[in-house]
Amino acid sequence: MKTNKKIGIIVDEDFALKHIPPYPHPTFLSYESPMRIESIIAYLEKKKNFEDHRIIKIKPKLIEESILNLAHTKYYIDSIKHLSNLGNGLIGEEVFITKDTYELAKMAVGGTIQALEEVITNKVNQSFALVRPPGHHALRETGSGFCVFNNIANSVIYLRERLQFHKKIAIIDIDDHFGDGIAQYFYDDPSVLYFSVHEYDYVEGDIGFINELGDGEGLGKSINFPLPINSTDDDFLEFMEILEPILKEFAPELIIVAAGFDMYFADPIGNCLLTTWSYYKFAEQILRIAEDICEGKLAFILEGGYSLIGLPYCVHAVIKALLTEDYKQPHFEKLKTPSERKKEEIQKIKSSLLGLLNNYWKL
Ligand SMILES: [Zn+2]
Repeated sequence: MKTNKKIGIIVDEDFALKHIPPYPHPTFLSYESPMRIESIIAYLEKKKNFEDHRIIKIKPKLIEESILNLAHTKYYIDSIKHLSNLGNGLIGEEVFITKDTYELAKMAVGGTIQALEEVITNKVNQSFALVRPPGHHALRETGSGFCVFNNIANSVIYLRERLQFHKKIAIIDIDDHFGDGIAQYFYDDPSVLYFSVHEYDYVEGDIGFINELGDGEGLGKSINFPLPINSTDDDFLEFMEILEPILKEFAPELIIVAAGFDMYFADPIGNCLLTTWSYYKFAEQILRIAEDICEGKLAFILEGGYSLIGLPYCVHAVIKALLTEDYKQPHFEKLKTPSERKKEEIQKIKSSLLGLLNNYWKL
Protein backbone atom coordinates (compact mmCIF):
# COMPACT_ATOMS: atom_id res chain seq x y z
CA MET A 1 0.00 0.00 0.00
CA LYS A 2 1.24 3.48 -0.84
CA THR A 3 1.88 5.26 2.45
CA ASN A 4 1.57 8.73 0.97
CA LYS A 5 -1.74 8.03 -0.74
CA LYS A 6 -4.25 10.86 -0.75
CA ILE A 7 -7.94 10.68 -1.60
CA GLY A 8 -9.89 13.93 -2.00
CA ILE A 9 -13.55 13.86 -0.99
CA ILE A 10 -15.32 16.87 -2.42
CA VAL A 11 -18.39 17.74 -0.39
CA ASP A 12 -20.32 20.69 1.01
CA GLU A 13 -22.99 20.59 3.69
CA ASP A 14 -25.33 22.48 1.35
CA PHE A 15 -25.65 19.26 -0.67
CA ALA A 16 -27.15 17.70 2.48
CA LEU A 17 -29.47 20.63 3.21
CA LYS A 18 -30.73 22.28 0.05
CA HIS A 19 -32.86 21.64 -3.04
CA ILE A 20 -35.55 19.72 -1.22
CA PRO A 21 -38.04 17.83 -3.41
CA PRO A 22 -41.73 18.73 -3.17
CA TYR A 23 -42.56 16.99 0.13
CA PRO A 24 -44.93 15.56 1.11
CA HIS A 25 -45.11 14.20 -2.33
CA PRO A 26 -44.68 10.47 -2.73
CA THR A 27 -43.56 10.57 -6.32
CA PHE A 28 -40.48 9.79 -8.31
CA LEU A 29 -39.30 13.33 -7.67
CA SER A 30 -38.85 12.71 -3.97
CA TYR A 31 -35.99 10.30 -4.44
CA GLU A 32 -33.36 12.90 -5.35
CA SER A 33 -33.15 14.56 -1.95
CA PRO A 34 -30.61 16.13 0.46
CA MET A 35 -30.93 12.98 2.59
CA ARG A 36 -28.80 11.18 0.02
CA ILE A 37 -25.73 13.24 0.91
CA GLU A 38 -26.72 13.51 4.58
CA SER A 39 -26.80 9.71 4.85
CA ILE A 40 -23.44 9.36 3.09
CA ILE A 41 -21.73 11.94 5.32
CA ALA A 42 -23.22 10.37 8.47
CA TYR A 43 -21.97 6.91 7.48
CA LEU A 44 -18.49 8.08 6.46
CA GLU A 45 -18.27 9.91 9.81
CA LYS A 46 -19.36 6.76 11.63
CA LYS A 47 -16.65 4.80 9.82
CA LYS A 48 -14.17 7.58 10.79
CA ASN A 49 -13.24 8.11 7.14
CA PHE A 50 -12.77 11.84 7.61
CA GLU A 51 -10.31 11.18 10.46
CA ASP A 52 -8.13 9.06 8.17
CA HIS A 53 -4.95 11.00 7.32
CA ARG A 54 -5.15 9.73 3.74
CA ILE A 55 -8.53 11.37 3.19
CA ILE A 56 -8.82 15.10 2.59
CA LYS A 57 -12.19 16.84 2.72
CA ILE A 58 -12.35 19.53 0.04
CA LYS A 59 -14.95 22.21 -0.72
CA PRO A 60 -16.31 22.56 -4.27
CA LYS A 61 -14.77 25.25 -6.44
CA LEU A 62 -16.91 28.39 -6.61
CA ILE A 63 -17.69 29.00 -10.24
CA GLU A 64 -19.22 31.76 -12.28
CA GLU A 65 -22.15 31.47 -14.63
CA SER A 66 -19.87 31.79 -17.65
CA ILE A 67 -18.52 28.33 -16.82
CA LEU A 68 -22.02 26.82 -17.06
CA ASN A 69 -22.29 28.56 -20.39
CA LEU A 70 -19.49 26.35 -21.73
CA ALA A 71 -21.93 23.44 -21.73
CA HIS A 72 -25.39 24.99 -21.59
CA THR A 73 -27.27 27.64 -23.53
CA LYS A 74 -27.83 31.05 -21.99
CA TYR A 75 -31.59 30.57 -22.38
CA TYR A 76 -31.54 27.31 -20.40
CA ILE A 77 -29.35 28.78 -17.62
CA ASP A 78 -31.66 31.82 -17.43
CA SER A 79 -34.70 29.50 -17.24
CA ILE A 80 -33.21 27.66 -14.25
CA LYS A 81 -32.41 30.99 -12.57
CA HIS A 82 -35.88 32.34 -13.23
CA LEU A 83 -37.65 29.25 -11.84
CA SER A 84 -35.30 29.20 -8.83
CA ASN A 85 -36.26 32.82 -8.12
CA LEU A 86 -39.92 31.84 -8.34
CA GLY A 87 -39.17 28.95 -5.97
CA ASN A 88 -40.77 26.17 -7.97
CA GLY A 89 -41.24 24.73 -11.42
CA LEU A 90 -40.59 21.71 -13.54
CA ILE A 91 -38.19 21.70 -16.45
CA GLY A 92 -37.43 18.75 -18.69
CA GLU A 93 -38.38 15.25 -17.60
CA GLU A 94 -38.55 14.85 -13.80
CA VAL A 95 -36.46 17.94 -13.05
CA PHE A 96 -38.16 19.84 -10.28
CA ILE A 97 -36.96 23.32 -9.37
CA THR A 98 -36.76 24.86 -5.90
CA LYS A 99 -35.34 28.18 -4.72
CA ASP A 100 -31.94 26.47 -4.26
CA THR A 101 -31.76 24.68 -7.60
CA TYR A 102 -29.64 27.16 -9.55
CA GLU A 103 -27.03 27.69 -6.82
CA LEU A 104 -26.82 24.03 -5.82
CA ALA A 105 -26.65 22.73 -9.39
CA LYS A 106 -23.90 25.29 -10.09
CA MET A 107 -22.08 24.03 -6.99
CA ALA A 108 -22.41 20.44 -8.29
CA VAL A 109 -20.54 21.52 -11.43
CA GLY A 110 -17.96 23.33 -9.25
CA GLY A 111 -17.53 20.20 -7.12
CA THR A 112 -16.98 18.08 -10.19
CA ILE A 113 -14.41 20.52 -11.62
CA GLN A 114 -12.67 20.47 -8.23
CA ALA A 115 -12.53 16.66 -8.25
CA LEU A 116 -10.91 16.63 -11.69
CA GLU A 117 -8.50 19.49 -10.99
CA GLU A 118 -7.28 17.92 -7.73
CA VAL A 119 -6.35 14.77 -9.66
CA ILE A 120 -4.77 16.30 -12.77
CA THR A 121 -2.65 18.67 -10.69
CA ASN A 122 -1.46 15.76 -8.51
CA LYS A 123 -2.83 17.26 -5.29
CA VAL A 124 -4.51 13.93 -4.59
CA ASN A 125 -4.19 10.47 -6.14
CA GLN A 126 -7.92 9.94 -6.56
CA SER A 127 -11.02 11.93 -5.77
CA PHE A 128 -14.70 11.43 -5.12
CA ALA A 129 -17.18 14.29 -5.63
CA LEU A 130 -20.26 13.83 -3.44
CA VAL A 131 -22.42 16.25 -5.37
CA ARG A 132 -26.08 16.60 -6.25
CA PRO A 133 -28.26 17.11 -8.24
CA PRO A 134 -26.78 14.51 -10.61
CA GLY A 135 -25.84 15.46 -14.17
CA HIS A 136 -25.46 12.68 -16.72
CA HIS A 137 -28.87 13.11 -18.41
CA ALA A 138 -28.66 16.89 -18.76
CA LEU A 139 -28.35 18.32 -22.27
CA ARG A 140 -27.24 21.70 -23.59
CA GLU A 141 -30.77 23.09 -23.65
CA THR A 142 -32.65 21.06 -21.08
CA GLY A 143 -32.49 19.02 -17.91
CA SER A 144 -33.72 15.46 -17.64
CA GLY A 145 -34.05 12.67 -15.07
CA PHE A 146 -33.25 14.78 -11.94
CA CYS A 147 -30.23 16.28 -13.73
CA VAL A 148 -29.98 20.07 -14.09
CA PHE A 149 -26.48 20.81 -15.42
CA ASN A 150 -24.27 18.12 -16.90
CA ASN A 151 -21.64 18.07 -14.14
CA ILE A 152 -19.19 15.79 -15.93
CA ALA A 153 -19.57 17.13 -19.50
CA ASN A 154 -19.37 20.71 -18.22
CA SER A 155 -16.21 19.91 -16.24
CA VAL A 156 -14.50 18.16 -19.14
CA ILE A 157 -15.23 21.13 -21.42
CA TYR A 158 -13.87 23.40 -18.66
CA LEU A 159 -10.62 21.41 -18.56
CA ARG A 160 -10.34 21.77 -22.32
CA GLU A 161 -11.23 25.43 -22.68
CA ARG A 162 -10.09 27.03 -19.43
CA LEU A 163 -7.16 24.85 -18.32
CA GLN A 164 -5.89 23.85 -21.75
CA PHE A 165 -5.96 20.19 -20.67
CA HIS A 166 -6.22 18.52 -24.07
CA LYS A 167 -5.22 14.99 -23.09
CA LYS A 168 -7.44 11.98 -23.69
CA ILE A 169 -10.15 11.36 -21.10
CA ALA A 170 -12.20 8.21 -20.48
CA ILE A 171 -15.61 8.42 -18.81
CA ILE A 172 -16.97 5.18 -17.38
CA ASP A 173 -20.65 5.45 -16.48
CA ILE A 174 -21.91 2.79 -14.06
CA ASP A 175 -25.24 4.43 -13.21
CA ASP A 176 -28.26 2.18 -13.70
CA HIS A 177 -29.41 4.49 -16.49
CA PHE A 178 -27.76 5.32 -19.79
CA GLY A 179 -26.01 8.69 -19.57
CA ASP A 180 -27.58 10.05 -22.73
CA GLY A 181 -26.42 13.58 -21.88
CA ILE A 182 -22.72 12.74 -21.61
CA ALA A 183 -22.94 10.51 -24.68
CA GLN A 184 -24.37 13.34 -26.78
CA TYR A 185 -21.75 15.91 -25.73
CA PHE A 186 -18.89 13.71 -26.86
CA TYR A 187 -20.47 11.55 -29.58
CA ASP A 188 -18.09 12.78 -32.32
CA ASP A 189 -15.15 13.67 -30.06
CA PRO A 190 -12.18 11.32 -30.55
CA SER A 191 -10.46 12.61 -27.40
CA VAL A 192 -13.19 11.36 -25.05
CA LEU A 193 -14.09 7.71 -24.64
CA TYR A 194 -17.55 7.21 -23.14
CA PHE A 195 -18.30 3.71 -21.88
CA SER A 196 -21.67 3.12 -20.24
CA VAL A 197 -22.96 0.00 -18.52
CA HIS A 198 -26.65 0.30 -17.73
CA GLU A 199 -29.99 -1.42 -17.36
CA TYR A 200 -31.70 -1.76 -20.73
CA ASP A 201 -35.32 -2.37 -21.54
CA TYR A 202 -35.16 -5.14 -24.13
CA VAL A 203 -38.94 -5.37 -24.28
CA GLU A 204 -39.94 -1.75 -24.83
CA GLY A 205 -36.72 -0.64 -26.52
CA ASP A 206 -34.49 2.12 -25.21
CA ILE A 207 -31.52 4.27 -26.12
CA GLY A 208 -28.03 3.25 -25.09
CA PHE A 209 -28.01 0.21 -27.37
CA ILE A 210 -24.82 -1.51 -28.60
CA ASN A 211 -24.89 0.00 -32.08
CA GLU A 212 -24.67 3.61 -30.85
CA LEU A 213 -20.93 3.80 -31.41
CA GLY A 214 -20.20 7.48 -31.99
CA ASP A 215 -19.91 9.56 -35.13
CA GLY A 216 -17.20 10.91 -37.44
CA GLU A 217 -13.80 10.89 -35.75
CA GLY A 218 -15.49 9.74 -32.58
CA LEU A 219 -16.66 6.44 -34.13
CA GLY A 220 -15.94 3.52 -31.82
CA LYS A 221 -15.46 5.82 -28.82
CA SER A 222 -19.02 5.71 -27.54
CA ILE A 223 -19.64 2.26 -26.14
CA ASN A 224 -22.73 0.83 -24.48
CA PHE A 225 -22.96 -2.37 -22.49
CA PRO A 226 -26.71 -2.75 -21.87
CA LEU A 227 -27.64 -5.22 -19.12
CA PRO A 228 -30.98 -6.99 -18.76
CA ILE A 229 -33.12 -6.11 -15.75
CA ASN A 230 -32.44 -8.10 -12.57
CA SER A 231 -28.72 -8.40 -13.38
CA THR A 232 -26.72 -9.48 -10.33
CA ASP A 233 -23.24 -9.26 -8.81
CA ASP A 234 -22.31 -12.30 -10.91
CA ASP A 235 -23.24 -10.45 -14.10
CA PHE A 236 -22.18 -6.86 -13.55
CA LEU A 237 -18.44 -7.01 -14.11
CA GLU A 238 -18.71 -8.90 -17.41
CA PHE A 239 -18.19 -5.54 -19.15
CA MET A 240 -14.68 -5.24 -17.70
CA GLU A 241 -13.41 -7.82 -20.21
CA ILE A 242 -14.28 -5.36 -22.98
CA LEU A 243 -13.46 -2.17 -21.13
CA GLU A 244 -9.99 -3.11 -19.91
CA PRO A 245 -8.32 -3.77 -23.30
CA ILE A 246 -10.02 -0.72 -24.81
CA LEU A 247 -8.81 1.51 -21.98
CA LYS A 248 -5.28 0.18 -22.42
CA GLU A 249 -5.37 0.85 -26.16
CA PHE A 250 -7.02 4.28 -25.81
CA ALA A 251 -4.52 5.24 -23.06
CA PRO A 252 -6.38 8.15 -21.43
CA GLU A 253 -4.55 10.46 -19.03
CA LEU A 254 -7.58 10.81 -16.79
CA ILE A 255 -10.38 8.37 -15.95
CA ILE A 256 -13.69 9.71 -14.68
CA VAL A 257 -16.33 7.42 -13.23
CA ALA A 258 -19.94 8.59 -13.45
CA ALA A 259 -20.71 6.84 -10.19
CA GLY A 260 -24.40 6.10 -9.98
CA PHE A 261 -25.41 3.46 -7.44
CA ASP A 262 -28.97 2.80 -8.58
CA MET A 263 -28.23 -0.74 -9.75
CA TYR A 264 -28.17 -1.52 -6.02
CA PHE A 265 -30.69 -4.23 -5.14
CA ALA A 266 -32.65 -2.00 -2.74
CA ASP A 267 -32.75 1.02 -5.03
CA PRO A 268 -36.31 2.31 -5.53
CA ILE A 269 -35.70 3.30 -9.16
CA GLY A 270 -33.22 0.85 -10.71
CA ASN A 271 -34.22 -2.72 -11.49
CA CYS A 272 -30.93 -4.52 -10.94
CA LEU A 273 -29.77 -6.56 -7.98
CA LEU A 274 -26.23 -5.52 -7.16
CA THR A 275 -24.74 -5.34 -3.70
CA THR A 276 -21.82 -3.23 -2.49
CA TRP A 277 -19.55 -6.12 -3.51
CA SER A 278 -19.91 -5.13 -7.20
CA TYR A 279 -19.01 -1.50 -6.50
CA TYR A 280 -16.03 -2.49 -4.36
CA LYS A 281 -14.73 -4.90 -7.03
CA PHE A 282 -15.30 -2.41 -9.84
CA ALA A 283 -13.42 0.34 -7.96
CA GLU A 284 -10.59 -2.07 -7.16
CA GLN A 285 -10.25 -3.04 -10.83
CA ILE A 286 -10.55 0.45 -12.29
CA LEU A 287 -7.96 1.71 -9.77
CA ARG A 288 -5.54 -1.03 -10.87
CA ILE A 289 -6.09 -0.09 -14.54
CA ALA A 290 -5.71 3.64 -13.80
CA GLU A 291 -2.44 2.93 -11.97
CA ASP A 292 -1.23 0.94 -14.99
CA ILE A 293 -2.09 3.48 -17.65
CA CYS A 294 -2.45 7.00 -16.18
CA GLU A 295 -0.58 7.15 -12.88
CA GLY A 296 -3.79 6.39 -11.01
CA LYS A 297 -5.52 9.58 -12.16
CA LEU A 298 -9.07 8.61 -11.32
CA ALA A 299 -12.07 10.68 -10.20
CA PHE A 300 -15.45 9.36 -9.06
CA ILE A 301 -18.40 11.72 -9.49
CA LEU A 302 -21.68 10.85 -7.80
CA GLU A 303 -24.61 10.46 -10.17
CA GLY A 304 -27.73 8.48 -9.15
CA GLY A 305 -28.36 6.09 -6.25
CA TYR A 306 -31.54 6.58 -4.24
CA SER A 307 -31.60 3.91 -1.56
CA LEU A 308 -30.88 5.86 1.61
CA ILE A 309 -29.89 2.57 3.23
CA GLY A 310 -27.65 1.33 0.44
CA LEU A 311 -26.12 4.51 -0.96
CA PRO A 312 -23.80 5.28 2.00
CA TYR A 313 -22.55 1.69 1.97
CA CYS A 314 -21.88 1.84 -1.78
CA VAL A 315 -19.84 5.04 -1.45
CA HIS A 316 -17.96 3.61 1.51
CA ALA A 317 -17.18 0.42 -0.46
CA VAL A 318 -15.61 2.52 -3.24
CA ILE A 319 -13.53 4.46 -0.72
CA LYS A 320 -12.29 1.19 0.83
CA ALA A 321 -11.19 0.06 -2.63
CA LEU A 322 -9.44 3.36 -3.34
CA LEU A 323 -7.62 3.00 -0.02
CA THR A 324 -6.68 -0.55 -1.13
CA GLU A 325 -8.22 -1.97 2.03
CA ASP A 326 -10.17 -5.20 2.39
CA TYR A 327 -13.93 -4.90 2.40
CA LYS A 328 -16.57 -6.76 4.34
CA GLN A 329 -20.12 -6.56 3.06
CA PRO A 330 -22.79 -5.34 5.46
CA HIS A 331 -24.68 -8.08 7.19
CA PHE A 332 -28.08 -7.18 5.70
CA GLU A 333 -26.91 -7.74 2.13
CA LYS A 334 -26.51 -11.42 2.87
CA LEU A 335 -30.26 -11.64 3.42
CA LYS A 336 -30.87 -10.86 -0.23
CA THR A 337 -32.63 -13.65 -2.05
CA PRO A 338 -30.29 -15.08 -4.66
CA SER A 339 -31.62 -14.60 -8.13
CA GLU A 340 -31.03 -16.43 -11.33
CA ARG A 341 -28.00 -15.30 -13.25
CA LYS A 342 -28.58 -13.76 -16.67
CA LYS A 343 -25.51 -15.51 -18.01
CA GLU A 344 -26.67 -16.58 -21.47
CA GLU A 345 -28.35 -13.28 -22.26
CA ILE A 346 -25.28 -11.33 -21.22
CA GLN A 347 -22.89 -13.52 -23.20
CA LYS A 348 -25.02 -12.81 -26.28
CA ILE A 349 -24.87 -9.05 -25.69
CA LYS A 350 -21.13 -9.27 -25.10
CA SER A 351 -20.36 -11.17 -28.28
CA SER A 352 -22.56 -8.88 -30.41
CA LEU A 353 -20.82 -5.84 -28.94
CA LEU A 354 -17.38 -7.39 -29.47
CA GLY A 355 -18.29 -8.04 -33.11
CA LEU A 356 -19.03 -4.33 -33.59
CA LEU A 357 -16.03 -3.06 -31.64
CA ASN A 358 -13.58 -5.25 -33.55
CA ASN A 359 -13.82 -2.66 -36.32
CA TYR A 360 -12.31 -0.02 -34.08
CA TRP A 361 -10.20 -1.74 -31.42
CA LYS A 362 -7.71 -4.59 -31.17
CA LEU A 363 -9.86 -6.99 -29.17
ZN1 LIG B 1 -29.73 6.59 -12.65
